[in-house]
Parts: sequence; C-alpha cells; structure tokens
Amino acid sequence: QTFLDRIERLNPDLNALITVTREQALADAKSADEMRAAGKAGPLTGIPLAHKDIFCTQGVRTSCGSRMLDNFIAPYNATVVEKLKAAGMVCVGKTNMDEFAMGSSNETSFYGPVRNPWDVQAVPGGSSGGSAAAVAARLVPVATGTDTGGSIRQPAALCGISGLKPTYGRVSRYGMIAFASSLDQGGPMGYSAEDLALMMNAMAGFDERDSTSVEREVPDYTADLGESLQGLKIGLPKEYFGEGLDSEVAKVVEAAVEEYRKLGAEVREISLPNTELAVPVYYVIAPAEASSNLSRYDGVRFGYRCENPVDLEDLYKRSRGEGFGPEVKRRIMVGTYALSAGYYDAYYLKAQQVRRMIRDDFTRALEEVDVIMGPTSPTVAFNLGERSDDPVQMYLSDVYTIAINLAGVPAMSIPAGFANGRPVGLQVIGNYFDEARLLNVGHQYQ
Ligand code: GLN
Repeated sequence: QTFLDRIERLNPDLNALITVTREQALADAKSADEMRAAGKAGPLTGIPLAHKDIFCTQGVRTSCGSRMLDNFIAPYNATVVEKLKAAGMVCVGKTNMDEFAMGSSNETSFYGPVRNPWDVQAVPGGSSGGSAAAVAARLVPVATGTDTGGSIRQPAALCGISGLKPTYGRVSRYGMIAFASSLDQGGPMGYSAEDLALMMNAMAGFDERDSTSVEREVPDYTADLGESLQGLKIGLPKEYFGEGLDSEVAKVVEAAVEEYRKLGAEVREISLPNTELAVPVYYVIAPAEASSNLSRYDGVRFGYRCENPVDLEDLYKRSRGEGFGPEVKRRIMVGTYALSAGYYDAYYLKAQQVRRMIRDDFTRALEEVDVIMGPTSPTVAFNLGERSDDPVQMYLSDVYTIAINLAGVPAMSIPAGFANGRPVGLQVIGNYFDEARLLNVGHQYQ
C-alpha cells in the first residue's frame, strides 16, 4: 500500500510506470502475508517489484514501449516473471522503456519520456529507464531490466542505483520480447548489490524453453558478499579513460578505484585494444537481428493493425508504417540492408569476425585480472531533447557497455558518487558466470 501510494503521488511527473496493477498487487500482498503467517516466507516474499514492459505478464498489457503492442495482452508469463512470482514477490506494474529497447534515454517510448528523479530536466538513461527511475524514486525497491548493449547498466548509472547484466545465458529469455537475440539478457535493478544478489537467486537458471540458456548450477549469490577483497586484481582498461570521458566523471571513478585499493585490491592498467570497434560492430549486428525478429509484427497475428487495408501488401506496409516509431524503423532499414545479398559479407560477416576479436580482448584480460573497472557511461545524465536529433551522439552513450554484450561476459553498475549534481556509475566487469564475485565487489564498496 505504501509503494502504491507513492506511485500515485510521484509517477504522474516521472512517467516511470506505464501500467499499475493495483488490485492484483494488493491481492498478491495478502497472499504473501498468509505465507509469512504460515512460516513459509522466503527473503523475497511480499517484496514489491515492477517489470520492464518487455517481459510478458499474463493478462496484463505488454507493450515493449511501442504502439505496435499497445493493444497486446500477454497470454503467458515470461520465465523471469514466473520465477519471481514463485519467490513470493508482488508485481505492482510495468515500467516505461525505449521502444523495443532501442535507445539510451527512454525518449523513443510511445508513452513519452521518463524523467530522472534526481533532476526532472534530465533523462533517466535507457532503455530500462522506467525501471531505473522507479527504483531511484523509491516507487519500488527492485525492478527487472534487460540489457542488449547497456540498457540495465547505463540507466542504473544515470539514476544512481545498482544494476547487473548477467552472463549471456544465465537468465532465461523466454517471454522477453526479442530485440537482438544473441545479445539480449535480463537482469535485476535495485538499491544495492545485496538486493541484486537476492533477485539473482530467484531469476537465474536453466530453462528448457530458451535454447541459449545454460545448464549450470545456480550458486547462492548472497554467500560471498562479505568476502574480503584483499589481493583482488583489478584491471583498468586504458581505452576507457581516454578521449570522450567527461573529466568530472573520471574523477569520481578514480576516487572509487582508490577505495578499492584501500580495501586491499591491486590495481593495474590493462588494454582492451578493440574497444573503439564495439559501437560500429554492435550497430551492424543488433539491427540485423532486430530486422529479423521484428518481421513477426505484420498486422495479422497480433499487435497493431491499420484501418481498412485494401490488400495484404497495404496491410503489411501501413500496419508497420503506423505501428513502429522512427528509431525502430531506422534499425530495421539498417539491419535489412546489412543482411541483403551482396552486402552480407561486407557488413554482417565482417562484424561477426570483429565480434570474436572483441570477445578475445576480454578473455585475455580476464586471465590477468579478476575484474575490470571503469566508468559505466562517459557522461552523467544529459537533458531531455539534448541528443534526440543526433543518433550517433546517442549511440556513444554506450561506448563502455556495448562490448560486454558482444563478449557475453557479466557486468554491473554501482553508484560511485556525483558529478555536477548528477549520479555517476562505476562499472565492474567479470569473467563468464562470475556474477557472485561482481556482487561481492559491489557489496564491499557499499
Ligand atoms: N542503447 C543501445 C541501443 O539503443 C542499447 C539498448 C539496449 O541495451 N537494449 O541499442
């Protein structure tokens, strides 16, 4: 009730939630109370949360931030939704997001932008900007997000909260609306690393309905939170501290690294030589996969359908033309082009080869050090409208996060301080399936 009241009071200004499931939430909270009374409560029983509107929720609108799915009521739950529900969590609603998770500011949403609770002139980041703003404004203690190129970590950084992108395959993608399937990964967003660990205990694991989910035991992610960091080897990639990084952000990140030194960590410089290729490679691969995934929105089976089509082709063209916004169309055009006969070898195949080199950068570096640290984003939150006319400027918000998805390793953003009055995130990158270590590193700082 407290959280619902807070949502009612603050959400009209923030636009962080686009659906509030008040009645269902109150009923679920009651069942949670009964579980507690019966001695059957776990650590998450009765804790409210909100799901990014990319996760299918049975009987509730699942829009993916698009007009295309504005009328779509999901007939089933995503695995993540199902698992958190089974853990006793109470879903209070769905969060706003960039359309089909394409964006870094939440400004591409069909439902309008989200405002950053620290400064309502600023964007919250994206694409999981609604989830980040909702947690930052304490509308919910935790939320789910998805990260294809930075969409959990960058908004977490810009809103001063914590967010984890797990190893690709650690969390099921079943029922998570696809953007770029080889990069998409769901994860938790919350105040602290400890909250993320509790969420991960419930979210992670093999799912036979997701062919890329990994069959591997799920550890207790809270078990190592208290471990000492004495002797931890931290690598600072020199490419993450060069041109393009705001000097105030750099100071905050360097001060955070200094704290780790005091906690006993050894810090050394490393190199991720292919860093500058990550954004261009991503903007071939992600749109290519998106153009294929989004071909299912044809106006026939579900989603938006245009009025009075004259024939089938008119139905396709107008349904897609009216249902998708400009950023989604831009990606479909780029992706279709990159996959066309004659261009495939020059763009898509080439990008896949460079992707492998980027992955090798990380595996090599992580033989030398335990974790890699750097800024999550090169700047603090920018103002609404400031970058919306310049896609390349917008794409550069993700220079430090995108390579991680191309490699598939896990990474987390934790609050490191403030620059010019706006939050700064510290990014911590680890080896495959080393989420427990990342959470330990985050917890020791907090
Ligand atoms: N900002 C990046 C993009 O627009 C990443 C988005 C994401 O991680 N979903 O594609």
